[in-house]
Amino acid sequence: MPSTPKYRRVLLKVSGEALMGDQSFGIDIATVDRIAAEVKEAVDAGSQVCMVIGGGNIFRGVSNAAKGIERATADYMGMLATVMNALAMQAALERTGLESRVQSAIPMQSVCEPYIRRRAVRHLEKGRVVIFAAGTGNPFFTTDTGAALRAAEMNCNALLKGTKVDGVYSADPVKVPDAERYDTLSYHDVLARDLKVMDASAISLSRENKIPIIVFSIHDRGQLAAVLKGEGRATVIQE
Ligand code: UDP
Repeated sequence: MPSTPKYRRVLLKVSGEALMGDQSFGIDIATVDRIAAEVKEAVDAGSQVCMVIGGGNIFRGVSNAAKGIERATADYMGMLATVMNALAMQAALERTGLESRVQSAIPMQSVCEPYIRRRAVRHLEKGRVVIFAAGTGNPFFTTDTGAALRAAEMNCNALLKGTKVDGVYSADPVKVPDAERYDTLSYHDVLARDLKVMDASAISLSRENKIPIIVFSIHDRGQLAAVLKGEGRATVIQE
């Protein structure tokens, strides 16, 4: 019997870029499979996991709006991109033997379930991984905010942000080799210092709902399960 995880129910946010692997856009199936294997390990260790996946690998609304598509329209295109990523992740999760459901904030009933909070909770209780697609369903938002919103609605014990690096740094550690890495931060620190973790509305929403944000590397094997036990290498953001 595995020991009880520190974080019983979590929402894992992965950006669209994290699915690209070494490609410059799109979905790298091997990378998606690796992330699915991490999730499988976490579920097997006793955590309930729901996910939000971004869409930046396929479409980024804001930058495209500047090129002549109205912002709201471009944002809807971005939300549709997140549905494609969610379906790819669902397929990968199912390849590991996990059951999973995609729920979209923009109803598209031939493709996936619509977002229904109580139904999503029920899926989690049954050990299914629920992937929340189409962000908040509203333009002018991001999937970070969608993740903080769903984490609050699902009563998650933590919001996990899987990134390319092992925590939050004072500057991009790829570009600034001596950037400082933090083990812990307060929500206020992140907002006041404008640290690039998640957008400000996601941080504020998590703060209001007292949900810690844990930033870790999604590409380091075994980190997700370790973080859920309260171990592993990560930055924990809380009050
Ligand atoms: N988006 C939106 N509302 C939402 C979530 C996403 O309009 O609630 C759009 C927005 O255009 C955004 C795009 O979808 O640029 C992709 O999401 P995001 O940039 O958060 O993806 P990530 O950076 O995590 O890959």
